[in-house]
Amino acid sequence: MKAAFLTSPRTLDVREVPEPDVANDGLVMETKACGICGSDLRRWKEGPPSGCEGITPGHEASGVVIKVGPQCHNFEVGDHIAIAPDVHCSQCYYCKHEMYNLCDNLRFVGITPGYPGGFAEQMALTGEILGNGIVNKMPEGLSFTHAAVSELCNSVLATHEKAGTGSGDTVVVIGAGPAGCLHVCVAKSRGARVVVLEIAETRRKMAERFEPDLVMDASEVDLVDRVKKFTSGVGADIIVCANPIAQTHALAVDMVRKGGKVMLFGGLPKANPMTTLNGNTIHYGEIEVIGAFSYHPRFHTLSLNLLAEKKLPIALLITHTFELGKINEAYQTAVGGEALKVVIEIGRQ
Ligand SMILES: [Zn+2]
Ligand SMILES: [Zn+2]
Repeated sequence: MKAAFLTSPRTLDVREVPEPDVANDGLVMETKACGICGSDLRRWKEGPPSGCEGITPGHEASGVVIKVGPQCHNFEVGDHIAIAPDVHCSQCYYCKHEMYNLCDNLRFVGITPGYPGGFAEQMALTGEILGNGIVNKMPEGLSFTHAAVSELCNSVLATHEKAGTGSGDTVVVIGAGPAGCLHVCVAKSRGARVVVLEIAETRRKMAERFEPDLVMDASEVDLVDRVKKFTSGVGADIIVCANPIAQTHALAVDMVRKGGKVMLFGGLPKANPMTTLNGNTIHYGEIEVIGAFSYHPRFHTLSLNLLAEKKLPIALLITHTFELGKINEAYQTAVGGEALKVVIEIGRQ
């Protein structure tokens, strides 16, 4: 079978390799679609982290079960399944308290060595992945390509559940990449008014497709004033920082209303993770600054159902699809700023 390997910066090698064996308690999935995530792009630009050379990336995968081990009881050949990357340990403090995304020993399919990902014609899912990871059957009527976006949906849905986004709220989304645009959709579906801040003109144009109430150029100087004006002088209820730029955290604290929530959805570059916030604004305004990373596994079924019911305009979010052989071109497109979600489609759909 063919599989892609991240060998050096900006280079994925598509090679012919033996088909994976099915574990006793596992299964083999014929991959049909796998999305390119922002974190995939980061590792592609930087090259594989040391110890992770030559891994097959891809963690937003969907496909058909083609082999099932004798001890695997929850899946059958022919099942359509979707996977998300997190595999927790079930032993640590966080797992015992059902905070699986905070597991001390979290491993990720398509990222951690020994857990090859979805940019391959087949993927072996071990009993460990089936038991402690996030693998679910797809609902009827959902395409593989749309199912591959469920992973991104999970984290966006979890963020708004945490923020308590509701009817009448004003939500400011800083950053209009694929995640930012999905934040617009989910916040709107929960009844909020949405303001988008984005520096790139092409991305502001793409964000318009999702019909936010206001789109602002993030390079302008009077952003806080404009958000205040939009909210009758009060400030936004919720700010979602969906970008990797530390300065937007400070901006968010200035823009949110007293008692409001700032959701730190986007991670910062590993080499430069520090952020500076006005402690007094947070203190006197009782502002909550909240980390939002990954999600409880239960969000996956929720996302798959929402996508199957066509409750989110996912077709607008997927701007490009490529075949596995064109994976470098696909990454190039995803990184170029003209694209939102890019999905690799593998084999016959
Ligand atoms: Zn992802
Ligand atoms: Zn754990």
